[in-house]
Amino acid sequence: MIRLAVIGDPIEHSLSPAVHGAAMSAMGIELEYQKIHVTSDALKSFTESARTSLNGFNLTMPHKINVIPYLDYQDEDALFYGAVNTVSVRNGKLYGSNTDGIGLAAALKRIGSDFEGKRVTVLGAGGAANAVLAAAFKNNSSKINVACRTRGKAEEILNRLKTKSAYSADLCNRKNAALSVETEVFGFDAENLSKACDGADILINTTPLGMQGIPNNFDSFDFLDALPSKAVVSDLIYKPMTTELLNRAKKRGHTVQCGLDMLIFQALAAEERFLNKRIDMQSLYVKVYEEVSKML
Ligand code: NAP
Repeated sequence: MIRLAVIGDPIEHSLSPAVHGAAMSAMGIELEYQKIHVTSDALKSFTESARTSLNGFNLTMPHKINVIPYLDYQDEDALFYGAVNTVSVRNGKLYGSNTDGIGLAAALKRIGSDFEGKRVTVLGAGGAANAVLAAAFKNNSSKINVACRTRGKAEEILNRLKTKSAYSADLCNRKNAALSVETEVFGFDAENLSKACDGADILINTTPLGMQGIPNNFDSFDFLDALPSKAVVSDLIYKPMTTELLNRAKKRGHTVQCGLDMLIFQALAAEERFLNKRIDMQSLYVKVYEEVSKML
């Protein structure tokens, strides 16, 4: 029996128990997966008890950064992303990883795309954008545009990632392609959104605009006209599975992807860390998608 949990504040909405339950059941592994409401004040004591009570846990807001001081080790991705979404417990030690970027890259692969040499436009500059931008850096995108309301947040993420890329290239004594990535930050008005999308190969929405229960949506979708016809459009939102952004992009002939794919693949990559072995992510994805998409 594997004992896992997802922690956050709030946590009620989390789909992690369903995703991990479907994946472990498909692998024939007995699983107990709890959804635990942990406030920021209780995070330290939770991590101490997890050393003996759990095989691992996933983290969502607001703990992905705050958990770092309580860990014994972080892997390369956790250090690069500056955030942790997966903690494995081995012999009472806590190992932090970040599987968001691996999840996104695997999701893009599923629709025949990848970041390598691509021009990527990211809408928003919050926690999810941090993971998307780190993945774009790590996977050698050629140009990264960010369109957002709060310019300083995008600049902070991009500067941190540039510094980390330079540091890791230095450590490995090699030239890192990410060092030569051109980055540009745009505003979130119609004109800037169009400029940010001009010539992009991949557009990824990381804002909550279009999410169920959020009253706001994009004022206009005209920025989609600036995308080349072959561009892929991805929305990290999974409720609804087809947001208005994806609907409009689909009508314009773009290949689109909803956030459920990234959610599933980051969970499968987390399971590789919990189980400490490789799993067949692409075939497990099909089984998990079938199960979880019915719940949305
Ligand atoms: P967050 O840290 O709060 O960031 C939200 C971003 O959206 C910020 O840049 C924010 O701008 C921007 N934003 C919010 N309302 C806006 C508006 N009306 N107009 C323009 N920009 C707006 O949230 P997050 O954790 O990044 O999550 C964002 C979305 O990603 C959510 O829908 C979440 O469900 C989804 N998500 C999906 C996955 C997945 O696996 N599929 C994983 C993580 C997150 P300001 O900074 O200016 O407020």
